[in-house]
Amino acid sequence: MKTIFKQSVFAGTLAALLSMHSIAFAAGAPPAAAAPAEEKKPVQILFTNVNIFDGFSDKLQNNMSVLVEANYIKEVGKKVNAPDAYVVDGGGRTMTPGLIDMHQHVMLNPPEGTASYRTKWDGAAGGAYAQHHLMNNILLKGITTVRDIAGDPLDIAKAIDMGQLPGPRIYSSGGSISQTGGHGDWAGRNVPPEILAGKIDMSQRTQNTWVVDGTDEVTKAVRLNLRRGAAFTKIMGGGGVASEFDPLEIMGLASDEVARAVEISADNGTYVATHAYHDASYNRLMDLGVRSFEHGFLVSEPTVKRMASMGEEVVWSFQCFMSVNTFGDYDAMPAFFTHEQKLKGVAVGKGARNASKLMNKHNVFTIGGSDMFGIPFVEMIKQDITCNVDAGYTPAQALKHWTGNAGKVLKWSGPKDPYPTYKLGTIAEGAYADLLLWDGNPLEDIKLILDESKLHLVMKDGLTYKNTLVGVDSPIYKPAKAPPTRGQYPL
Ligand SMILES: [Zn+2]
Repeated sequence: MKTIFKQSVFAGTLAALLSMHSIAFAAGAPPAAAAPAEEKKPVQILFTNVNIFDGFSDKLQNNMSVLVEANYIKEVGKKVNAPDAYVVDGGGRTMTPGLIDMHQHVMLNPPEGTASYRTKWDGAAGGAYAQHHLMNNILLKGITTVRDIAGDPLDIAKAIDMGQLPGPRIYSSGGSISQTGGHGDWAGRNVPPEILAGKIDMSQRTQNTWVVDGTDEVTKAVRLNLRRGAAFTKIMGGGGVASEFDPLEIMGLASDEVARAVEISADNGTYVATHAYHDASYNRLMDLGVRSFEHGFLVSEPTVKRMASMGEEVVWSFQCFMSVNTFGDYDAMPAFFTHEQKLKGVAVGKGARNASKLMNKHNVFTIGGSDMFGIPFVEMIKQDITCNVDAGYTPAQALKHWTGNAGKVLKWSGPKDPYPTYKLGTIAEGAYADLLLWDGNPLEDIKLILDESKLHLVMKDGLTYKNTLVGVDSPIYKPAKAPPTRGQYPL
C-alpha cells in the first residue's frame, strides 16, 4: 500500500481520497477537513517519484513530480511545491500520457461490423455495444481518447462529457461521407434504390454513414455531421476491404465532391481525413487539401516522399495490427468478411509491411489508430501499439504515434475541438490530466502495456478510473462527474 496524505492533515488510502476528489467535483464541495477559507480552491493531486514519458522524447525523465489541479497538469518538475495537494508516491513507476486511438469505429461493434445495421441490429444495440467497450476495453485499459472515424457516437460522447456515463474522450467525425457503392455504403446489395437515396436504410438512419452523390449532397451531409458536434470530416477516398462493392483499386468520391468536403470543413475551421490505399487516390486527395491519410498500404515511394515533404501539414495514420497481422492472414480475418473481402485483406497485409518501412524511412509524420472493433479485436486494441515495434519502429516512436503526435492532430479540429482548453497526448504544463502509471518501463519492454496488471492507474480529466496503488484486487471504477470541458452543450 502506498502512502498518500494531504500535507500533514490527512492519512488515508488513495481510493478514499480520489473518491473524495470526485465528490468534490460533483457537488462543488470541499474535502471534509478543509477549512472554510479553502473551500473554493480546486483540488490538487501531486504525483511524486515518477519517471515520465512526455509523449515525444526517446528517453524517460526520471524522478519527477507532476501536479494535477482540477482536470489539468499545472506543473511538472523535479521539485514541485504544492502544500495543499494530496500526495501520491509514484514509487518509481513510469508515467505516460493517456493513450489515444486515432482510428476507432465505436458504433460498429455488433458482430457483423459495417453490415450490422442492414437487418440485424438497431442503433440502440449499437450504442449498448459501444458503451460497454468504451469503458471496459478502452478507458480501463488506458486509452483515454479515441478519434472515432466513421460512425455517430456523438450523443454517447455528450453523456460521457456530462459525467453520466464512463468513457474516454471522443473526437468523432460523425457518419462517413461515401459515394454510392463506396466504402461507406453498408446497405445490402438488393436494398431498393429509393431507400438508399432516401437515406433511410438503417446505416444511414442511425447516421453512422452517408451515401451521397454530387456536391450538394456532400454539403448537406458534412453540415449535418458538424451540426451534431463532429470534430472533423471522414471521407471515403478509395476502395476498401470491409465493404462489398468497391475493389481496392477504385477511386472513391469524385474530385469535386472531395473539394466540397474540404471546403465546408475548412469553413468550419476543421479538416478532412480520408480512407484510401493507393498512389492515385493519395495524390489526388493531397492535391485537394485532405490532411489525415488512413491506411495507404499500397502507396509507393514517390508518394511517401511527397508526404514527407509536407511535414506536419499531413499525417499518415497507421493501422498496424489489422493490416500486418490480421489482413496478412486469410484465416485470421473477421468471420463476417466475404471471400472477396478476405482476398482484398491479403493484398493489404502484404502492402502494409512495405508502406510502414517507407513511411519510417522518410520520417513521415505518423499517428497510430487501431481500426480494431468487434469481438475479439476490440479486446486487444493495444496490440496495435506493440505491432508498431514489430514493424520496425522504436517503442518510443510507437508510443509517440499514440500520444504526442495524436494530440497534435486532434488540435487540427480548431473551433470544432470538443476539448479545446488544454493540450492532449503529452505530460506538460497546460495539458489535460490524462495520465497512466505503469509498473515497468515500456520504452524498454513495450509488451508490458498488454499486461493489465502492470497498469496501476488510469486518470482521465483529473479523475481516477482505475487504481491499484492501494492494493485492491480489482480496478476501482468511479462514476465521476466531469468538469464542463466540452463547452458546446449546456451541462
Ligand atoms: Zn476504419
